[in-house]
Amino acid sequence: MTDSNSNASARKLRPQTELVRGGLMRSGFDETSEALYLNSGYVYSSAEEAEEAFNGDRERYVYSRYANPTLSMFEERMRLLEGAEVCRGTASGMAAVNAALLSQVKAGDRVVGAKALFGSCLFILNELLPRYGVETEVVDGTDLSAWEAALAKGAKAVLLETPSNPALDIIDLKAVCDMAHAAGALVIVDNVFATPMLQKPLEFGADIVVYSTTKHIDGQGRCMGGAILCSQEFDADHLKDFLRHTGPSMSPFNAWTMVKGLETLALRVDRMSDNALALASHIEGLPGLKKVIYPGLKSHPQYDLAMAQMSGKGSTLIGLELEGGKEAAFKVLNGLRVADISNNLGDSKTLITHPSSTTHQRLSEEERLAVGITQGFLRISVGLEDADDLKEDLEQAIRA
Ligand SMILES: *Cc1c(COP(=O)(O)O)cnc(C)c1O
Repeated sequence: MTDSNSNASARKLRPQTELVRGGLMRSGFDETSEALYLNSGYVYSSAEEAEEAFNGDRERYVYSRYANPTLSMFEERMRLLEGAEVCRGTASGMAAVNAALLSQVKAGDRVVGAKALFGSCLFILNELLPRYGVETEVVDGTDLSAWEAALAKGAKAVLLETPSNPALDIIDLKAVCDMAHAAGALVIVDNVFATPMLQKPLEFGADIVVYSTTKHIDGQGRCMGGAILCSQEFDADHLKDFLRHTGPSMSPFNAWTMVKGLETLALRVDRMSDNALALASHIEGLPGLKKVIYPGLKSHPQYDLAMAQMSGKGSTLIGLELEGGKEAAFKVLNGLRVADISNNLGDSKTLITHPSSTTHQRLSEEERLAVGITQGFLRISVGLEDADDLKEDLEQAIRA
């Protein structure tokens, strides 16, 4: 097998080039596209070689729960894109979040999180970790004094998401990372909403970045996947053994889909963000709409912070709040002719969801209101359709 990346440390290519070529390992058949190694095990030419593979004297593939060549190509491409020392692929975004947290904490530790998180991340913080003796606290992520108070009690790890799901709050990455480091905590940023194209948390001091690659990285509604990006030290001390022995590995087929998804990621995120800004600007001010939340609109309460720590238009997602509560929200959903009702996001198709009755149904009404999820709130994941069709579709559904 030839590694076309053998000069990787010497050369520095631009992101779009790495998205297409980074991590490519061609086999002896000289295929153009990345090969799909759909296999679980590997063979050894001798008993001695097998022994060396297991005692660490020889670096090679031994079992696809540990590593697989197609997965290695995906991980290397992601690693180059993010500018991290290590990338580990996982079976889903939640497997990535879970491993980033569980691999490093033990009973007696404390974890502080932002309260505006993806629903399952809140389950891990509020319900799962406390069962194992890990104390957790969630704070309003936009309130720096709340972080300061929570971190004053010490913490092992911090988990946050910016822009947050679903209300698109922006958290000051540099300020929270500085405070967390002063308290001795590692910061995990769930960067799904921003994508690697619009925000680079490591540049603001984050220690670990996690993705659901199910979202924009596949971006075409096909496969589940996740990724953890971190330092060699974190990988060696915590992550590597945790993943090997608990087994949330990404399947080779999904890794192949993801590596091909990365080739068009920049193009897609760019077009989706253009569409999102066009759609958000078009509907802002329509009758029946209380507000439109989009980080790239001046009306967003943290517009300046969004523009300072993100690039591009700031998001492929839009939040909107209707005056008529749940009834009005359901009417809009049911009146759409182009966009689909779906809780997924980052897809080439525009998808709309009503978080309070779906993704955030587990929370109490009070918890939902604390993170801006009212009964009239809808989240739109803007796709790759013609922006004019999306504008007409949403406008007719809102006016009706
Ligand atoms: C979807 C999502 C996850 C979970 O990822 P899965 O691939 O569905 O497991 C975590 N965080 C955010 C922000 C997400 O949107």
